[in-house]
Amino acid sequence: MNIIDNVKPTEELQALDAAHHLHPFTDTKELNSQGVRVISRANGAWLTDNDGAEILDGMAGLWCVNIGYGRDELAQAAARQMQQLPYYNTFFKTTHPPIVALSARVAELAPAHLNRTFFASSGSEANDTNIRFVRHYWAAQGKPEKRKIISRRNAYHGSSMGSASLGGMQAMHDQGGLPIADIHHIGQPHWWAEGGDMSPEDFGKACARELLEAIETHGEDKIAAFIGEPVQGAGGVIVPPATYWPEIQKICDAHEILLIADEVICGFGRTGNWFGSETYGITPDIMTIAKGLSSGYAPIGGSIISDKVMEVFENTAGEFTHGYTYSGHPVSAAVALENLRILDEEGIVTTAGATTAPYLAQEWRKLGDHPLVGETRVAGMMAAMELTPGKAARAKFDTVGHAGGLCRDAAIAAGLVMRAVGDAMVISPPLIISHSEIDTLVERAWQALDVAQTQLKASGHL
Ligand code: PMP
Repeated sequence: MNIIDNVKPTEELQALDAAHHLHPFTDTKELNSQGVRVISRANGAWLTDNDGAEILDGMAGLWCVNIGYGRDELAQAAARQMQQLPYYNTFFKTTHPPIVALSARVAELAPAHLNRTFFASSGSEANDTNIRFVRHYWAAQGKPEKRKIISRRNAYHGSSMGSASLGGMQAMHDQGGLPIADIHHIGQPHWWAEGGDMSPEDFGKACARELLEAIETHGEDKIAAFIGEPVQGAGGVIVPPATYWPEIQKICDAHEILLIADEVICGFGRTGNWFGSETYGITPDIMTIAKGLSSGYAPIGGSIISDKVMEVFENTAGEFTHGYTYSGHPVSAAVALENLRILDEEGIVTTAGATTAPYLAQEWRKLGDHPLVGETRVAGMMAAMELTPGKAARAKFDTVGHAGGLCRDAAIAAGLVMRAVGDAMVISPPLIISHSEIDTLVERAWQALDVAQTQLKASGHL
């Protein structure tokens, strides 16, 4: 039997993994002292580990399996495409049917002014495309100095040199000499953690106005673009106050700064609409997509460019010297097309927005009654709760991440994947999760909070 038939005992897989596999975002020494978790199969919203235990996937993988696991149609689409044309490139005046169809379908689904996509294999690659695209866009118009990009602290835009520079994760910048030149960060609209005595509305405006300050500091003629996730995902499901995005939009429009909405998490139903830009009233010049585009069944990402930007680009840019071997991979495109067909025809995005998200919000907010929870936040089909040693003061734990880690481990022990971002617990389940599965999710999250609270009391942290 082949190793990928999952027939090996868990300890054997763990030993081989420890010997030969280097994991992303992992302390290898710590992992190997504990033993890695082995997930062998999945269906719907449920994972099954190598020993047969079932775990509710509150994270849809890494915020991506919007359609849920086990959709055979996607496997069939991949198999058909592999038989017909497993690979061909889209360089050198060439295209192929699946990428033509996907480009057209994405244009139909995206907001009306976004009609042309440059494809990549991931969100990181797509954001790297964006850096090169916006700089070349201005340079081609005789403004090579207009090349700075403004992002936010605690944003996540990927892990390559460019996209991690766009991101505002200090721990990432500390490794590898980031950010690259001409990327600057302003504050994030995270009211619970940073809003102090301001109302969320005033705080949202104040955060947006940091963009104005950046324009004053760097000069409008030096700034190419602003990038932001409609809702910061990996940063902790940070839902901006309602005042934030309208102000950012106004500032970008008034100062000729391209607005990039990174929809890698928010896109394809996550916020209850097809795109987060619809939910938050953003009119982006460029939209980054990945994850839910194929529900994670095949790697694919892209940058959707607005008509206005495209018209200028087409007439001034000449050759855009940029591309990936897998820009517009036919198998990924076929899988994405099938995923989009199902999300649409089965009304998965519509149902998520109209029914599932309101139910999730109603049930998730109940966790706010737990003594350990300071705030609950919900944005469609993703949510967060802040763990706190003191609700009223919005107090923070001394050792950031300890309480979150305990709660996450307790959740997994209770059969729920819930992620810890510092001391915020976050979820982003498959859009197809049922109401009774949401009940299970919330019950298990409450159990995890109880366990964490007991442990924190025993160790003197509470
Ligand atoms: N942008 C956002 C908003 C993301 O959440 C992520 C991944 N979590 C990325 C970009 C990077 O995508 P990838 O991991 O596919 O490179």
